[in-house]
Amino acid sequence: MKIGILGGGQLARMLALSGYSLGLEFIILDPSKEAGATGLGKHLQGQYDDPTLLAKLAEEADVITYEFENVSAEATRFLSQHTQVYPAPNALSIAQDRLQEKNFFHQLNIPTANFATIASLEDLQQAMTHIAYPAILKSRRMGYDGKGQVVLKSSDQLAEAWDAMQGVASIVESFVPFQREISIIAAKRASGEIVFYPVSENIHSQGILRVSECCKNDGLQRQAEDYVVRILTALDYVGIIALELFDVNGKLFANEFAPRVHNSGHWTIEGAETSQFENHLRAITDLPLGSTEAREHTAMVNFIGGLPLTERILGIPHTHIHLYDKAPRKGRKLAHATIRTGDFAQYSQSLQRLKILAESTDDS
Ligand code: AMP
Repeated sequence: MKIGILGGGQLARMLALSGYSLGLEFIILDPSKEAGATGLGKHLQGQYDDPTLLAKLAEEADVITYEFENVSAEATRFLSQHTQVYPAPNALSIAQDRLQEKNFFHQLNIPTANFATIASLEDLQQAMTHIAYPAILKSRRMGYDGKGQVVLKSSDQLAEAWDAMQGVASIVESFVPFQREISIIAAKRASGEIVFYPVSENIHSQGILRVSECCKNDGLQRQAEDYVVRILTALDYVGIIALELFDVNGKLFANEFAPRVHNSGHWTIEGAETSQFENHLRAITDLPLGSTEAREHTAMVNFIGGLPLTERILGIPHTHIHLYDKAPRKGRKLAHATIRTGDFAQYSQSLQRLKILAESTDDS
């Protein structure tokens, strides 16, 4: 069976690597000659909305998926007229627009920060009469890793903040005073089976994920599962989904969902019985889903902008490395490392060393 993937970065690379053992082949559409996954399948080099390449992809692939949200929903709609596209284009178009996404959470009674839609400075001034400071102004579309966001601390910042958005449709939302950020990753198969991974606790800095730790038996696991099931059911969803949540005194508020494999689930490669990548492929090819049980203590650390020598990373006990084959660039995710061990003291020590090592080459 041949799987088509829109995007050839590290997520496609890890999907393809896990798919070989399932006997799957890959065809990958990506504009870049050097994209990290392109050596793992047939590469269609060109833009994501190129009609000739999309037609070719639809013809050759048995099932199509995507590795990031900023592919055109229109292109996935076109593809879905010819072949199966999972997750369905509808999930993608909601996740692409922060306003639609927040309204969708509300329809499902999933709490979020207070928010308002913004199309002008007047809208922003008006909204900030009822939304508390600090708040965050975010572009509705094309935002990731904290891009297209401005923090608002007081009313004298509004004009400058709106200028910085260069007139793009936005939302403003109140800053959630969270104790923790967590995410839940779940998979749903076309025939209905759903599995959940243990929630991850995620540390971000400047809007970019740095560290994810698997939280076995977390007190908020059930609440997170309840919210993600509402989304899976409402969207008639197939594949892996990640829901990012803020924990405020034990009550969860949704931030966003990603209709794809997710950085906060990379620990599942070594740390779970079945990785998120394998379960995504099982889900979209309608195979029985694998156990999501976490093995031992496990966490993941991202390497951003720069990379220490592999030898130094692997010199930390119980560490595994995943290099993305990407040229270093400021703020770019180049690799991640996972720790897994049954010895908690050893786990804490290795995680601490890995964080310090990652910070030493982080240029963001
Ligand atoms: P986003 O692009 O919406 O995922 O935001 C990136 C990161 O910025 C989040 O993971 C949080 O660390 C932070 N953030 C975004 N929105 C909020 C908010 N309303 N309250 C507090 N922190 C936020």
